[in-house]
Amino acid sequence: MSNMTKKTDIILIGAGVMSATLGSLLKELAPEWEIKVFEKLEKAGEESSNEWNNAGTGHAALCELNYTTEKEDGSIDINKAVKVNEQFQVSRQFWSYLVNSNLISNPQDFIMPIPHMSFVEGEKNVQFLKNRFKALTKNPLFKGMEYTEDPEKLKEWVPLIMEGRSVNEPIAATKIDSGTDVNFGALTRMLFEHLERQNVEVNYRHQVEDIQRTSDGLWELKIWNMATGNIERHTAKFVFIGGGGGSLPLLQKTGIPESRHIGGFPVSGLFMVCKNPEVAEQHHAKVYGKAKVGAPPMSVPHLDTRFIDNKKTLLFGPFAGFSPKFLKTGSNLDLIGSVKPNNVITMLAAGVKEMALTKYLIQQVMLSNEQRMEELREFIPNAKSEDWDVVTAGQRVQVIKDTEAGKGTLQFGTEVVTASDGSVAALLGASPGASTAVHVMLEVLERCFPENMFKWQSKIQEMIPSYGVSLSDNPALFEKVHTSTEQALGLGGKEPAYINA
Ligand SMILES: Cc1cc2nc3c(=O)[nH]c(=O)nc-3n(C[C@H](O)[C@H](O)[C@H](O)COP(=O)(O)OP(=O)(O)OC[C@H]3O[C@@H](n4cnc5c(N)ncnc54)[C@H](O)[C@@H]3O)c2cc1C
Repeated sequence: MSNMTKKTDIILIGAGVMSATLGSLLKELAPEWEIKVFEKLEKAGEESSNEWNNAGTGHAALCELNYTTEKEDGSIDINKAVKVNEQFQVSRQFWSYLVNSNLISNPQDFIMPIPHMSFVEGEKNVQFLKNRFKALTKNPLFKGMEYTEDPEKLKEWVPLIMEGRSVNEPIAATKIDSGTDVNFGALTRMLFEHLERQNVEVNYRHQVEDIQRTSDGLWELKIWNMATGNIERHTAKFVFIGGGGGSLPLLQKTGIPESRHIGGFPVSGLFMVCKNPEVAEQHHAKVYGKAKVGAPPMSVPHLDTRFIDNKKTLLFGPFAGFSPKFLKTGSNLDLIGSVKPNNVITMLAAGVKEMALTKYLIQQVMLSNEQRMEELREFIPNAKSEDWDVVTAGQRVQVIKDTEAGKGTLQFGTEVVTASDGSVAALLGASPGASTAVHVMLEVLERCFPENMFKWQSKIQEMIPSYGVSLSDNPALFEKVHTSTEQALGLGGKEPAYINA
């Protein structure tokens, strides 16, 4: 047991894409600050950020129908879609900056171009998609989107989905070629390698057990060194809790008033993965459908071409489920352990309100493999059971908090919680998730380091030319950053030859 307390400027908890992004931003803005990272697993990017644990969609609202809602008069509200798209452009710009500055290389190892499509059946859904297409294509961010109701055209776009399909009701799809598949696991590992080259101390197999305020205003972390069995103590001026699903319990330990009345509801996931390369070869798109009635937005089914380990694969899902764990590598006691006197009412209120969701999740957990195949056959009518395996995805901990909508309201977005003095920040929630990591980490900087923002502004604008500007209102700037990021990230052409070679 070591009693020596080590001091540093910044501590990042967790080696996922969020800490990787915040660390990389800080290294550019304040290179003189000392940063330490503590991660309980052996490597970076092993929880939600891992390529097998998330869907790898570069969320830009190009195909996800839940970002555009239908108003009572039938018109479409595209505000959320515009916001998500703009946030993804911020990520593209920062990643391009890192590539152009030779801080990371081989962007094709983490981002690939792939058409994003929405596919619907039934008159009402077709009308919705048509209205959505009309509304989105008025905005420059969605330029290049195509729409069709023609089965022949659809056979060209998605042969696997059309083969064996009896078209006895209207069908329609949109397609936009500027979509991406992002391997967030590879990106996270790349960013941590970069951080280590910049002298950031990354401590694996170090589990943060406690966070307490010291009398001199610092934060002291009690950390279990899992390799030696020792307890270490480290202090920092600023702590970022980037523990993914594990962030809520750590935030609660800080005791800051902002951590109160917040709960977490874990939702687990499963993907079906195609093990027959001949089938995988017949599909080349991310195709999102419409959520089933009662389903939460994050369980919208989609059939995705993915690029993992330099191979093209096909994933379908996610199927939602319930597990009391907050991390895939977490404990069955996580949920119950997160119930505290200050959030018990919030949690109970959510339990009463979200009966339909609970029922839906239980139904999903009970699905047999053959029932999952039936859901897959709504996308690929001729899908054969022997071509598909099931893989467990990451855990998402949805935030429960008291809002204007009432006590215990389930949130599906990402929440940044910060102490009033900006000395600690935590990231909760998981959607749109990793795609918007750069935007969300800039929000952490704005809220926690307001006194530095003026000094940092020009560097941020050098890295992210659209910082603080609405791209939707500035088509010329959008065109410029879209083209330059396409070039820097190698998104202009077809997939490289080594894929499936
Ligand atoms: C099924 C699913 C599908 C998704 N699909 C997409 C998608 O298509 N596109 C998208 O953009 N996003 C998607 N997401 C969301 C995205 O994966 C997450 O938003 C993102 O990976 C979160 O990154 P993070 O760094 O916050 O957490 P994580 O990647 O989970 O990293 C947290 C790290 O903290 C460590 N840790 C936790 N507690 C401690 C502790 N006490 N001490 C030390 N270390 C600790 C963990 O071991 C872990 O390594 C999806 C998520 C899921 C689950």
